[in-house]
Amino acid sequence: MEIFEYLQKYDYEQLVICQDQTSGLKAVICIHDTTLGPALGGTRMWDYACEEDAIFDALRLARGMTYKNAAAGLNLGGGKTVIIGDSRTQKNEELFRAFGRYVQSLNGRYITAEDVGTTVQDMDWVHLETDFVTGVSSCGASGDPSPMTARGVWRGMKAAAMEAYGSDSLRGKTIAIQGLGHVGYYLAKHLHEEGAKLIVTDIHDDLIKRVIDEIGATAVRPEEIFGVKADIFAPCAMGAVVNDQTISQFKFQIIAGAANNVLKEEYHGDKLHELGILYAPDYVINCGGVINVADELDGYNYDRALKKVEKVYDNVAKVLKIAKEFKIPTYIAADRMAEQRIERIGRIRSNYLS
Ligand code: NAD
Repeated sequence: MEIFEYLQKYDYEQLVICQDQTSGLKAVICIHDTTLGPALGGTRMWDYACEEDAIFDALRLARGMTYKNAAAGLNLGGGKTVIIGDSRTQKNEELFRAFGRYVQSLNGRYITAEDVGTTVQDMDWVHLETDFVTGVSSCGASGDPSPMTARGVWRGMKAAAMEAYGSDSLRGKTIAIQGLGHVGYYLAKHLHEEGAKLIVTDIHDDLIKRVIDEIGATAVRPEEIFGVKADIFAPCAMGAVVNDQTISQFKFQIIAGAANNVLKEEYHGDKLHELGILYAPDYVINCGGVINVADELDGYNYDRALKKVEKVYDNVAKVLKIAKEFKIPTYIAADRMAEQRIERIGRIRSNYLS
């Protein structure tokens, strides 16, 4: 598809191609929508096979942030950056400072953060050239977002349980967790503290061992997790885990986890709806981390951020209510909730203020 055709199709605002010869910077900043506020979204560094892949990844991810930020109730729009390059070998101070100057040139329309392939150190370099960056190490920064993401997932899972079982208690429920990395580990802790039984998997044995030793759980092989007998499935590894191969194995009543792009294709969300499996949409339930990092914009306060993350419960409940009322799959209900908020806030902001 032609670029302008794609920009029009999803109503993108701006695409910025950044090049700096000294540092070797090749970056694409994409701003999808700023109706609710400045576009916030991380910077991904990835060795893309071609430039087109990088541009379309930036476009896709930026639009995703518009929905995520809107559904999270943040006054932020959606944007994203991709830097083309190998994050293990091609990083240096000049590269991130050159990028920081491009961020600064957007004068606050875009605020960046860490993402896949970038670290706090990289954001500290960006910060030398612009204030429009979060996730830096200086005082007032929010640190690792994963514990807050896990907390949000736990809260959202409880809201889903309320809908499915008429009680939000997870005591005695069997919950299958796929992936025991940054988020999965903290999620396992919350669930264990609440009295849930855990079935876990990871491709790294040491991470499984940590959870068994510290928390207690039954471990299965990675390929077995989709077919285990559990009430709830929490995907916390990678995307596209609800697909033609896995769906027929599911015995779960609820799917609620941290992973992004859980549905391989939209029709898998329709299929879950038909099967009566309650799916808590990924970007609604996994936004604890972005809520946490966004709190930095007001001078980070842990207690305030925590209070906002607790609201993931209400957001998931709201999506499930919309889905029930209109008899639509939850992934569509989530999009509707985000789009409505953008549209309504946009409308009230059309009033002229002197
Ligand atoms: P992570 O890399 O720390 O953990 C992912 C874990 O999944 C790893 O331990 C990995 O070994 C395991 N894994 C990979 N493939 C697997 C497989 N086939 N079977 C079983 N386990 C497998 O990542 P994370 O930060 O914990 O994030 C988990 C997911 O949540 C990702 O999809 C991420 O995009 C999403 N997410 C994370 C955050 C956050 O704050 N970290 C926020 C929003 C969304």
